[in-house]
Amino acid sequence: MDRTKIRNIGIIAHIDAGKTTTTERILYYTGKTHRIGEVDDGQATMDWMEQEQNRGITITAAATTCFWKDHQINIIDTPGHVDFTVEVERALRVLDGAVVIFCAVGGVEPQSETVWHQADTYGVPRIAYVNKMDRMGADFFAVLEEMEKKLGAHPVPLQIPVGKEQSFRGVIDLITMRMIEWNQEVQGAEYHYLPIPEDMEETAAAWRERLLDSLSSHSDRITELFLEGKEIPEDLILRTIRSCTLARQITPVFCGSSLRNMGVQPLLDGVISYLPSPADLPPIKAYHVKKEKEVEIPQEESGQPLGLVFKIHADRDAGNLCFVRMYAGSIKTGTTVYNVAKKKRERITRIFRMHANRTEPLDMLRAGDIGVVVGFKLAQTGDTVSSEGQPVLLERMHLPEPVISIS
Ligand code: GDP
Repeated sequence: MDRTKIRNIGIIAHIDAGKTTTTERILYYTGKTHRIGEVDDGQATMDWMEQEQNRGITITAAATTCFWKDHQINIIDTPGHVDFTVEVERALRVLDGAVVIFCAVGGVEPQSETVWHQADTYGVPRIAYVNKMDRMGADFFAVLEEMEKKLGAHPVPLQIPVGKEQSFRGVIDLITMRMIEWNQEVQGAEYHYLPIPEDMEETAAAWRERLLDSLSSHSDRITELFLEGKEIPEDLILRTIRSCTLARQITPVFCGSSLRNMGVQPLLDGVISYLPSPADLPPIKAYHVKKEKEVEIPQEESGQPLGLVFKIHADRDAGNLCFVRMYAGSIKTGTTVYNVAKKKRERITRIFRMHANRTEPLDMLRAGDIGVVVGFKLAQTGDTVSSEGQPVLLERMHLPEPVISIS
């Protein structure tokens, strides 16, 4: 897989905002599209989803891979409780971008504020999704205001809702200026495009103008075309939104109702259009044990391997399943890799990728990707794997504390 087509994302939400429902819908739609060409129709996919739901597997994997429009999306599980700061911070380090879900009724809750600021600290680009547009009291525009006031964010809606509460039926895409309407049955969740309803034409035009206005402060070309009253090419709009999102100048906002199967497909399009790929990332900082100082390592496929064990699941049959995020170089099945914290080489007996409904064996795991390594005996969560020639730590909490001797 070409690295520019990988997205490592987290789904961050205040409890009850709809993280589980949205994640399940994502796995359902992506599972469905990826199975095109196989004998089955959607039914089997739905069946496995129900099965997995009952067993709760889809949501407990530390990282689950799915595919959307030729892109590989690795969804990293983020802890629901912000109390586990180390875990939240580790997750934020492993993901490259995030989808932040807000409830259209509850808006920005105190917990969302904490995680939002942590994501700021780690420089994580974000897109936002205002869920539960079908619920009584849903107010998309109030959530935008709260994002501005409480989070100091620069929300830029790429959609506005059509109808709300019981009559929520779709969104207007402010880039293509057309309406997306969902067929509201659980199975399928198909959508189609319609012209903007007449009574919303003015509102839509005003929000599009606001969108272009936000972008024009970051693009001279858009400003020029805007002032000349000329058509702004869609491609230029998309590229500008992307670069502003990566620079964390704006937060694109989407909306929908995951429970009613409305809104998730454009959100997935947003993930691949606006969130970064590993190829977009700057060098990563690590602590060099021998040099005793921080160094920067380019996140490239060539060079020494560099990875972080960010979660371990104990499996009765396979032993420890170590979830590893690779930042540079690659690791291969059947070889060994150096565990810097433990100062020992460890054998990689197997590597695989977790999908929602299956595991896929891999020969190697490359920079930018996430997979599960089997075979490590000593590794603990937070350990760095690399080589003897590059003894660096991505997390320093395993460094021995200085011994204070009292004389
Ligand atoms: P989580 O705690 O963030 O994982 O939230 P869940 O996905 O478990 O959702 C919490 C509750 O809200 C559940 O009862 C869901 O059925 C419900 N819910 C989720 N999304 C929607 C939505 O779009 N509309 C409505 N009305 N309810 C929703």
